Amino acid sequence: MLETGGCMLRATIVDVLQMSRQACSLRPLREPAGLQPTASGLQPLMERLYFDYNATTPLLPEVLEAMLPYLKEDYGNPSSIHHFGQQARAAVEQARAQVAALINCRPNEIVFTGGGTEADNLAVFGAVRAAAAKGPGPKHVVTSAIEHHAVWNACQALEKEGAEVTYLPVGSRGIVSIEDVRRALGPETALVTVMYANNEIGAIQPVAEIAQLARAHGALAHTDAVQAVGKIPVDVKALGVDLLALSGHKICAPKGVGALFVRRNTLLQPLSYGGHHERDRRAGTENVAGIVGLGRAAELARQSLAAESRRLAALRDRLERGVLEKVPDTAVNGDPLHRVPNTCNLRFDCVEGEALVIALDLKGVACATGAACSSGAIEPSHVLTAIGLRPEQARASLRFSLGRQTTEEQVDRLLQILPGVVAHLRELSPVYKR
Ligand code: PLP
Repeated sequence: MLETGGCMLRATIVDVLQMSRQACSLRPLREPAGLQPTASGLQPLMERLYFDYNATTPLLPEVLEAMLPYLKEDYGNPSSIHHFGQQARAAVEQARAQVAALINCRPNEIVFTGGGTEADNLAVFGAVRAAAAKGPGPKHVVTSAIEHHAVWNACQALEKEGAEVTYLPVGSRGIVSIEDVRRALGPETALVTVMYANNEIGAIQPVAEIAQLARAHGALAHTDAVQAVGKIPVDVKALGVDLLALSGHKICAPKGVGALFVRRNTLLQPLSYGGHHERDRRAGTENVAGIVGLGRAAELARQSLAAESRRLAALRDRLERGVLEKVPDTAVNGDPLHRVPNTCNLRFDCVEGEALVIALDLKGVACATGAACSSGAIEPSHVLTAIGLRPEQARASLRFSLGRQTTEEQVDRLLQILPGVVAHLRELSPVYKR
């Protein structure tokens, strides 16, 4: 009964906030940067605060600069043998070397894809279908309960094709247990795929130990490293994985480009058929400008990784300390130690996360919930429920993710805005009692 009442009230708050957001967005969409129109002319625009780097990152100027020639005068097709084609080919191969250097593999072990999702799909379907082609019988996949949908939904599709999938639980820290992996492995296991860093809580998984076990059982080891690359050192040799996915737009390169590391001699069925691009692993003319951007971003990430990850961890801790001090009835979700340096996931008891995201957006702050909209209802995040949160606690949680352009001043401004917004929403809550 209370839950029903709470839901109705939640819906009302979200509706009202949505309406205010729509009213605000009646302003022209494209204003000159830093200015907004008023009756008396252009006034300085409130600087928006972006705390959603795990969703996507802005292009770095150096990345854009590297890409521009390949969107303009250097438009050759890398498969052409003339001058234009060879220039494009050289640029793609330079980018391949840059990405390989970031994750410590050979350039010819990098397959460029159309993003992280495609890289994960190529790994999951490619590995299982190649194993199925070797012999009859259902193939078994081991994965975790907190995977991104790029892997999770690929596994669900494989189940429909007859494969068996084990979804390993994670404890309250959000970390898979090695013992559970050991128990799940069997003679039929074709693939173990456990993400390196979780996109919602940042939890870092024991990928090296998992890969060692998988390979000892004759299974391939894949990791979705989309949220790890550029944030922590990623070394495929030290990890011992056969397959590793990464994405451009999480490391300040453009959207729609990514890569899959495929260890030499790994059997993998392609997802698409066409020309002999990418050593027959991924057919289709290469996205040259995107690949060049990914290469340059990888190079920049490698150069600044250690310093940037220290800087981000300090900012993230400042944010987290500040919120816990200034906002009562809040908690950190997941393991505060074993996580990537840029991510924090916070629970604000008795607040509807969607409403908080919208209310913060109205104040110029961008952040995220892990909730998904399904059949008109807001489903709590599968990651947060997997670490043991009740649905209402999961719905009361927000992710703040930091990146290259985040400054101490921005964190402090967030800390000025957030307590008032949470307090206001709690005033409207029928269940919140100080
Ligand atoms: N894997 C993880 C962990 C992610 O966070 C994302 C994107 O959010 C993806 C995969 C998908 O990458 P892309 O957006 O490049 O398809």
